[in-house]
Amino acid sequence: MDLYEYQGKEIFRRLGIPTSDGGLATTPDEAKSVAERLGGPVVVKAQVLTGGRGKAGGIKLADDPDDARAKAEQILGMDINGHVVRKVWIEQASEIAKEYYLSLTFDRGVKRPLFMFTTQGGIEIEEVAEKHPDALVRLHVDPFEGYQPWQGRRLIFGGGVEDPNEQKQILAIVGRLYETFVTTDAMLTEINPLIVTPEGEVRALDSKFTVDDAALFKHPDIAEMRDLEAVPPEERAAREKGVTYVKLDGEVGILGNGAGLVMSTLDVIALAGGRPANFCDLGGGGDAEGVVDALEVITADPKVKSILFNVFGGITRCDEVARGILTALDRMTIEHPIVVRLDGTNAEEGRQILDEASPENLYVEPTMLDAARRAVELAA
Ligand code: GDP
Ligand code: MN
Repeated sequence: MDLYEYQGKEIFRRLGIPTSDGGLATTPDEAKSVAERLGGPVVVKAQVLTGGRGKAGGIKLADDPDDARAKAEQILGMDINGHVVRKVWIEQASEIAKEYYLSLTFDRGVKRPLFMFTTQGGIEIEEVAEKHPDALVRLHVDPFEGYQPWQGRRLIFGGGVEDPNEQKQILAIVGRLYETFVTTDAMLTEINPLIVTPEGEVRALDSKFTVDDAALFKHPDIAEMRDLEAVPPEERAAREKGVTYVKLDGEVGILGNGAGLVMSTLDVIALAGGRPANFCDLGGGGDAEGVVDALEVITADPKVKSILFNVFGGITRCDEVARGILTALDRMTIEHPIVVRLDGTNAEEGRQILDEASPENLYVEPTMLDAARRAVELAA
């Protein structure tokens, strides 16, 4: 889950990483009153889950509250890389003497958190890595040993920070960033730029923050930060119902039980010449409730033309899934053709149940390939 800048900064603040004072606004008038409260010049920042806002014109300085109102009016509603701005973060404008870069990400290759630091901040880090690779200091942390202050010193000296006052502040921020990363189960935390003011004060001017979805249950305060309006409706519905759902861009909606089976179903659809529209994983379930939920999610996608149920009964019994499908068809109107392939525990009973009821838009096929071919044909 990606956090907005203002949300990441809120976590930074809680864990002692310095940021500027600010407030959130959804209208120009709100922006004005936040600016009044803050006093002095402010910066009005588009809150969207994408980078490069500065270049896109989504970040503007304002001299006074009326100017903040005007700038917010320009930024709200703006489209930045396909993201519409619905919120702006207003903060006290900082004077910038230097722009540094500091991040901590999860490096899957070596299974360790990776610090990156450079004094060439402010620009895209990919550009630094390409043009001045020597200026970018990289350092892995052994998660079992945890963060050690010498690592922070190596980052700072390696990056060439010479001012002792800066060194001290950055060292503290590096340690706190590690703590933030670990305690929130983050996958990525990035401060670009980490600024030094003319008075020598170091502060996080931006925040990019990604938390591991699988760990959100441990962090209800962060889970609650999710912006439901920014999520497509079918994904929102899936999340609310606890259905695992992934949107793709073809025409065949796929419902299976277990990630492995679902993945191979995608391949078989491709083999049959079709394209999957999405997929839902029923997991270990398959009861009527789960099937109804999944069908609701799948059919909310207007691109879906046919639906393929691919179930291998293990703990989930095929007769139960068959009853689930019939109950779902009783409860909701589905116009899409539904192709079903059942195998494994009680597959015979399951097929029989479907044969006896034989709803007109239901097709039972004996194998995965037959089912995929039929689903693709019906989607055409
Ligand atoms: P991004 O473009 O999405 O990465 O957004 P940032 O928050 O990093 O802002 C982009 C740039 O705007 C920064 O690198 C700064 O140069 C500038 N900027 C942001 N906030 C301030 C501020 O308070 N004062 C000044 N002078 N510049 C700022
Ligand atoms: Mn930035």
